[in-house]
Amino acid sequence: MLIVGGGLAGTTLAWTLHFRGQPFVLVDSGDPSSASRVAAGFVNPITGQRLALSWNYATFLAAAERFYTKVEVELNRSLFVRRPMVRLFQNELERDRFTRKAGTFGVTTGALHLDKSRFAAPLGGFELPDARQLHVAEYLRASHAFFGERVRVARIDPTTLAVGSDHLRVPEWNEAYRVAVFCQGAAGRANPLFDPLPFAPAKGEMLMLRIPGLNEDRIVNRGVWIVRESGDIYRAGSTYDRNRLDTTPTAAGRAEIETRLREFLQVPFEVVDHVAGVRPILDDRKPTIGRHPRWNSLALFNGLGSKGSLQAPYFAEQLANGLSNTGTIDADAGLAPPSEST
Ligand SMILES: Cc1cc2nc3c(=O)[nH]c(=O)nc-3n(C[C@H](O)[C@H](O)[C@H](O)COP(=O)(O)OP(=O)(O)OC[C@H]3O[C@@H](n4cnc5c(N)ncnc54)[C@H](O)[C@@H]3O)c2cc1C
Repeated sequence: MLIVGGGLAGTTLAWTLHFRGQPFVLVDSGDPSSASRVAAGFVNPITGQRLALSWNYATFLAAAERFYTKVEVELNRSLFVRRPMVRLFQNELERDRFTRKAGTFGVTTGALHLDKSRFAAPLGGFELPDARQLHVAEYLRASHAFFGERVRVARIDPTTLAVGSDHLRVPEWNEAYRVAVFCQGAAGRANPLFDPLPFAPAKGEMLMLRIPGLNEDRIVNRGVWIVRESGDIYRAGSTYDRNRLDTTPTAAGRAEIETRLREFLQVPFEVVDHVAGVRPILDDRKPTIGRHPRWNSLALFNGLGSKGSLQAPYFAEQLANGLSNTGTIDADAGLAPPSEST
């Protein structure tokens, strides 16, 4: 199998095949601004202003725990860690909603404990002790090193592939594969081999900060969040822009994060880096996986949106089952049948 794209989707599919003893070649263009390389990797059970339990949370989390534990054993390092999240209310509506819903979330919530000399929280908040963080960049780096010669740093141009019904050839390499799975994230918008997916991507910018003496290991989130990277270095983000879909950091993005951070962070900080990536969101906010409706030798894994760390293991497993005919793909995650026009 050829896997095109070595972000969260492609790398997680590669491990899933590895654990099944199935051969693969993973080709990745190594885009430093790919969503996976800039992602914070949070797994947050209660998201958004509606304070709703994340879709299918228990099922996805169980798959993620099983999967990352196996990878951690292979790579002999900790990658998927418990990282409590402090959620500060942004307005009274949010606070009232939380009070109304308290006890019905299906996950543990705790009382807010925060040092008022470092954080302002006039409306209060709550803690999610069971939030997680995947160290995404390290997961990718260490996985690709582990796969060794099965990983190639190159860009595949989909238009150069010779696509047949039961195999495809990569003329440049003079190699044939039974199937190529495209795991390109937001770059998949430009892949002409598939009918256009209903992409609704969102650019996200993120800052690296030096905050001497803050000494906070939890994620602190008030619409924008900060999380410790190591020592006095923290990440802070992120913006959500549906209009500008490039990966260039902007002054406006930086200003937005800094302003919103100052609304609750009481100590001075210095910006040491600034990055941006594009989240591969589909308009139903659910991943799409499976074989091409016409060409058996093509398949897709995309649409991880803002929740790749949580969802990639579950959908990689489903896709591997679907491709080997050992299981079915959830009806709402499968690729649509061919359109009338092509
Ligand atoms: C600022 C920001 C913060 C985020 N925070 C979180 C978070 O806290 N938690 C969370 O779960 N998710 C988060 N996300 C979302 C998460 O990053 C995505 O869900 C996930 O990374 C998508 O992974 P992917 O593999 O589908 O795509 P990508 O990460 O975009 O990977 C695609 C890969 O394919 C390669 N590629 C593309 N085309 C080709 C080609 N033709 N040939 C070869 N290689 C190719 C690219 O180089 C890239 O490596 C965040 C995203 C952003 C932008």
